[in-house]
Amino acid sequence: MRKRLTDFRKELVDLLDGRGLPLNVKEIHESAGDSDLSTVYRALEYLESQGMVRSIFVPCSCDRSKYYYSAGKHLHFLHCERCHSFYPVPCAGMKKMEKKILDDYRFSVTEHVLLFMGRCEKCRAES
Ligand SMILES: [Zn+2]
Ligand SMILES: [Zn+2]
Repeated sequence: MRKRLTDFRKELVDLLDGRGLPLNVKEIHESAGDSDLSTVYRALEYLESQGMVRSIFVPCSCDRSKYYYSAGKHLHFLHCERCHSFYPVPCAGMKKMEKKILDDYRFSVTEHVLLFMGRCEKCRAES
């Protein structure tokens, strides 16, 4: 029996939530079981339009540089430009920065995306 669309969407949200790291469509498709690629694309598009999923473009040489992540998590990411792994880092210090932005620019931050590019420990050891 085919999975209901709503169940499938929920599955994708749970997947991204559980991983806590951005995944590209290929990785999501591989983890999403028996669904075809266009179904995955459509579900992600829908979830993004509903604000449940966010996407970022990573300025990297990765094949597919658009990555999706759960909108429910406030995570900051490190992306290794060599092995293309993501690593989460905690949000320490951001509250202070948001306060400063509000004070200095009268701009109230509702959300932030933070991505650091560089080389991971493993790749630094290899190069
Ligand atoms: Zn690396
Ligand atoms: Zn990359």
